[in-house]
Amino acid sequence: MGRIIAISNQKGGVGKTSTAINLAYGLAQNGKKVLLCDIDAQGNATTGLGVEKSGLKNSVYGVMIDSVPVKNAVIATKFDNLYLLPSSIDLAGAEVELVSMPRREKILLGALKEIKDEYDFIILDCPPAIGLLTINGLAAADGVLIPIQSEYYALEGLTQLMNTVKLVKRALNPELTIEGVLITMYDGRALISRQIYDEIVKYFGDKVFKTVIPRNIRISEAPSHGVPVAVHDKRCRGAVAYNQLVEEYLGRTK
Ligand code: ADP
Ligand code: MG
Repeated sequence: MGRIIAISNQKGGVGKTSTAINLAYGLAQNGKKVLLCDIDAQGNATTGLGVEKSGLKNSVYGVMIDSVPVKNAVIATKFDNLYLLPSSIDLAGAEVELVSMPRREKILLGALKEIKDEYDFIILDCPPAIGLLTINGLAAADGVLIPIQSEYYALEGLTQLMNTVKLVKRALNPELTIEGVLITMYDGRALISRQIYDEIVKYFGDKVFKTVIPRNIRISEAPSHGVPVAVHDKRCRGAVAYNQLVEEYLGRTK
């Protein structure tokens, strides 16, 4: 049975999509069969893997709203072991369309159940809002991985996210766990970064990954080439850090 991990934080620009792409790629490189599901209408995980959205026949929108079988929407990427359930711009409307649908919080769960046992990991790149798409992601997930940007207001808004996780646990998905907390855009030279790290550890304890993702320009360049950072520049600090994250994560789940 595959493990479903939702990458979620309702703040935008904290590194959700970068983490989704690079974690998914790293796991795939380690011989795991991985499906990356892009459930954000912006579709950054889709384009970040070099997939042109305009050429797609199906997407996660069709799966969630028009009952398209999930198998018909999943595509292989140009990377070994890595598959994609792509997003498209019409997903922006899904947030409203879902409201009137029966079992509206569990539609993604239902779709992923059909293919869960075909993958080792299914990674969900969630949108930057706590709406029905994120709720669907949390309801379908075994664990939630929270990227937190290393900045002064890092913990702001996290109470809201933790309350949502608690509500989803209670009402929809009792087995949901915190898979881990990942500090991104870390600046090792700044004293404040160390203080922020300690503050986040105080809040989340050993859920916080020892690996931190540094601020690294290569990470932000990679999506424009449609590749993970390790393909863009294998030796850069960003690629090394995401590699280390994959090792730490696999070591934890053993
Ligand atoms: P989110 O999905 O949470 O909105 P993204 O992963 O899209 O966040 O990151 C937001 C922006 O910051 C993007 O332009 C991305 O390329 C860039 N970025 C993400 N992580 C890093 C990093 N560690 N160093 C430098 N830039 C980063
Ligand atoms: Mg994103």
